[in-house]
Amino acid sequence: MNILVINAGSSSLKYQLLNPETGALLAKGLCERIGIDGKFTYKPQVEGKQVLDAVDVAMPTHSEAIQAVLNALVDKDNGVIGSMQEIDAVGHRVLHGGMAFTESCIIDDACIEAIKECIPLGPLHNPANLMGIEACQKVMPKTPQVAVFDTAFHMTMPEKAYTYAIPYEYYEKDKVRRYGFHGTSHRYVSARAAAVMGRDPKGLKLISCHLGNGSSLAAIVDGKCVDTTMGLGPLAGVPMGTRAGDIDATIMEYLMDKYGYSIKEMLTILNKKSGVLGISGVSSDFRDLENAAKEGNQRAELALEAFQYSVKKLVGAYAAAMGGVDAIVFTAGVGENDAATRMAVASGLEFMGVKMDAEANNVRGKETVISSADSKVKVLLIPTDEELMIAMDTAEIVGK
Ligand code: AMP
Repeated sequence: MNILVINAGSSSLKYQLLNPETGALLAKGLCERIGIDGKFTYKPQVEGKQVLDAVDVAMPTHSEAIQAVLNALVDKDNGVIGSMQEIDAVGHRVLHGGMAFTESCIIDDACIEAIKECIPLGPLHNPANLMGIEACQKVMPKTPQVAVFDTAFHMTMPEKAYTYAIPYEYYEKDKVRRYGFHGTSHRYVSARAAAVMGRDPKGLKLISCHLGNGSSLAAIVDGKCVDTTMGLGPLAGVPMGTRAGDIDATIMEYLMDKYGYSIKEMLTILNKKSGVLGISGVSSDFRDLENAAKEGNQRAELALEAFQYSVKKLVGAYAAAMGGVDAIVFTAGVGENDAATRMAVASGLEFMGVKMDAEANNVRGKETVISSADSKVKVLLIPTDEELMIAMDTAEIVGK
């Protein structure tokens, strides 16, 4: 079975063709500058096939981009499948499923309407995700399609965790509540963590730390999310590459009054100029920050410390919320690659039974246990694979 996984942005589209039964990746790539001058990248994962790197392909809309993907996949010299019929289904990443979607679903008219209704909650991403869906429907009308939502995994949160302490009518009338994101990643790594531990997810209390350019934590009991750090949108929680994370709303009023910023300008500051970039003034990339810190840049050091402290604090909060924790899982760009950050987050948690193994932690991008054998709380590194999770969901739903 082959599943085409699509992650559509407003002017870009990432794709992977993979077999969810074996986990084999056949090809992946990227369409960029859709609607501008069209750049197409194709990376077949089969030996002897030629890579295309940002070549010019006219893509006035997402439909031409999908057509370019299909042309490359079935190309007689460099393709990885014989024909389009070998694509059994398409799985789409969709950012915001609001309260309508507690799990992935087959894309039909009702599903598209519901995704449209969630546009006010995901104004940047949902319209782009819909463009990807509509393009696939046009170019491959007979192939079933499935939507997989970043928010769906978090829909099991109890009311007390998702309710904001603002007038309740904003929840009732306007659906203002905590939704959470990175759900596909948290779901994948928490299931893998249980498997690596040889345990049934039922009975396990996990804290999943997705630390990348965007970061979020999730508290997971019995395989179900009970709390997460992102909120109505992906700006809340820990500081991120360029996003502020949780701040006191008073800051907005103070700065907007003082500098005459519009709400749009203020949000640009909070989304694009804040986080570890904002603190350090150096970079949003943790590798740059670590290099700068080594050279004595104190604000880079402070940015790393503020990030690590914030993650540690929420690990403690979630352990308290769950009444204990069996395992802490690190994933995504920083979580998978940055041993120093993992160590900084976990050290000081010995009081609650966390004991790291420095040697085991000296590893990158590998599914492994990084706590010591006698650590009461296991600490694991689990590389995330959102595309595989989307393909697995798609195969399961289409199989039904
Ligand atoms: P993601 O959003 O999951 O793709 O993560 C991207 C981020 O991971 C980058 O911005 C870097 O900050 C971080 N990253 C990737 N490789 C490393 C590394 N070797 N050491 C530290 N951070 C890394």
